[in-house]
Amino acid sequence: MQRLQDRVAVITGAGSGIGLATARRFAEEGAKVVCVDLDEPSGAKAADEVGGLFVKADVTSEDDVVRMYQTAFDAYGSVDIAFNNAGISPPDDDSILETGLDAWRRVQEVNLTSVYLCCKHVIPYMRRQGKGSIINTASFVAVMGSATSQISYTASKGGVLAMSRELGVQFAREGIRVNALCPGPVNTPLLQELFAKDPERAQRRLVHIPVGRFAEATEIAAAVAFLASDDASFITGSEFLVDGGISGA
Ligand code: NAD
Repeated sequence: MQRLQDRVAVITGAGSGIGLATARRFAEEGAKVVCVDLDEPSGAKAADEVGGLFVKADVTSEDDVVRMYQTAFDAYGSVDIAFNNAGISPPDDDSILETGLDAWRRVQEVNLTSVYLCCKHVIPYMRRQGKGSIINTASFVAVMGSATSQISYTASKGGVLAMSRELGVQFAREGIRVNALCPGPVNTPLLQELFAKDPERAQRRLVHIPVGRFAEATEIAAAVAFLASDDASFITGSEFLVDGGISGA
């Protein structure tokens, strides 16, 4: 019997990076995976690869979020795991003095409001089932801040962390665990895009990672699979750091 045998998992941002690696890992561990992404080709490819369902959805749209959980439930009869992971990188100059209100609002919308919508609409399914595991992707910057000027991004991830803690505490007695995943820098298209614009930034980051390298998405996926599984049955409301030691340095 595998750890996630027949659990129904909905993953947002499943077409790329951490979401894609987690879709693969969940499937390996026996889960039925619903891959959600705004980008149809990559999301559909991921679903095809893991033998799951693809739902094209924009996680900032409440109608889309309602539809993606309904689709998962209609197809498989439960929603056991929600990995609320879709997100975007900071705008080009994300210092407090330069970031405009539109850019700030966009980052909050995609990174934070989306998590609020996902939690709001998945918890009713989990309540009825009397169990569930929600993992929300925050970031190490939510815990320690960032010297590289990314105020809107850091604030959005701080919100995800606080919300996860609050919901973890609030729903603990109902068998629903809610944790904030806090990855360090991970070698994904999101990070590669950021570093392509500012190569020195990569070097500055690398210096501060005690293990001396960026994470691979598979290393983050392994932690998500653990949090999703019953092996993590006593872990809720946590900030779960998978950061190569960066927050302790
Ligand atoms: P990625 O760019 O490789 O993947 C993100 C996916 O989310 C893409 O497939 C994209 O199409 C999808 N997406 C974006 N906006 C969406 C929307 N509105 N609706 C639905 N899907 C949408 O990024 P990644 O590096 O895998 O990042 C995943 C999460 O991890 C993000 O929340 C990111 O902030 C967080 N994170 C990343 C790192 C890192 O270093 N890569 C570190 C800490 C946290």
